[in-house]
Amino acid sequence: MICTGCSCLCDDVEIAEGKILNACERGYRHISKYMENRAKPAVEGKEVDLDRAIEAAIEMLKSAKNPAIYGLDTSTIEAQKTAVKIAKKLNCYIDDNSSFCLGEFVEAILRKELPSSTLEDVRDKAYVIVYWGTNPYHSLPRHLSRYSYYPRGAKRQRGYDEDRYLVVIDIRKTEIAKLAKKNAKFIKVENDLELVDSFMKALDGKAGKYDVAGILREMKKADFNVVFGGLGLKYGLRGNFKAFIELLRNINKFAPLYFIPSGFHANMRGFNETLFEAVNAVNSYSFSSASSSPEFAFTELLKREKIDTALIVGTDPIASLPYEASSKLPKIKKIVVDPRKTLTSRIAEVVIPSAFSGIESGGEMVRSDGVRIKLKPIASSEFDDVYVLKRILEGL
Ligand code: SF4
Repeated sequence: MICTGCSCLCDDVEIAEGKILNACERGYRHISKYMENRAKPAVEGKEVDLDRAIEAAIEMLKSAKNPAIYGLDTSTIEAQKTAVKIAKKLNCYIDDNSSFCLGEFVEAILRKELPSSTLEDVRDKAYVIVYWGTNPYHSLPRHLSRYSYYPRGAKRQRGYDEDRYLVVIDIRKTEIAKLAKKNAKFIKVENDLELVDSFMKALDGKAGKYDVAGILREMKKADFNVVFGGLGLKYGLRGNFKAFIELLRNINKFAPLYFIPSGFHANMRGFNETLFEAVNAVNSYSFSSASSSPEFAFTELLKREKIDTALIVGTDPIASLPYEASSKLPKIKKIVVDPRKTLTSRIAEVVIPSAFSGIESGGEMVRSDGVRIKLKPIASSEFDDVYVLKRILEGL
């Protein structure tokens, strides 16, 4: 099966004689506990049948003045496409977690401003591997063992301590930073923009605040190097993505360097690509304004009290959004579509249970590097996100 526990979407997980094989601990928990804490259809806190819950959601969306759709990062492409159709029909906002995660990086890749590649190419060819502001030890547990540092690849046969050069850039000595010993470098960064500047200076043969000339020399030795960028990089750049894009462009004149986002939700990149195909924007989109803007991010809409109703799919904003935004959720009407009971579903006016994508329902997701993966569910449920969202779309 394909594990949908994170955006690695590992395709080697097997179920044999009741045992889950090859999954990491996160994946094991994701798969083995999928029947626990399941949501039940409910309207205003009272359990109802599924049809009644869907009808109540349709009525609520029809009477909403300013609705928004939010989440969908654990839903399949098919469900995401249906949600975009609902947003179009309602002429409303649509957004996902990537607006405060790695959406800008994915957008730069889709607009061909950042050169990118696949995890298979990383495994086969990558020499210098940079983890910048990300700690896959927690978020993408098998990233290093399946795709990047540890495996022997077609052109990297001599093992990680000879045939890979690991660079970890972070504000603290994380678990993966502790691996940076032989043929490796750890940079404890205080200011990411100063580090960008140090790389630019080193390309001109000048010294900057950080000593990075040795990393560039290592990159020059290979025909494939990669940067995995995470949230630490995003926030470290303080909105100055152009400086990072410019840096990669300049390094690529000197040595080949690719960028792959290091995000966590199984199909966050799928959401970005689905919306991009439909409206040329990756998130924070308003159909009524026919544009995308940081103002249309779900957190901003909540903070500024711009919406009265939200259709929330497969995410728990009460648990995950900052208090400034989540504290506004009780003031609006909420329809939650989720396999599990969540903090948000506890206060939702309508709860619609759904199947776990990848475990109980099939479809397609997009891995963090943009490779499309067909899911192979181990159980079946006809009441998945696609079913629920299509019913809502038809009812509108
Ligand atoms: S690394 Fe991610 S996709 Fe792979 S088994 Fe672990 S949780 Fe599942």
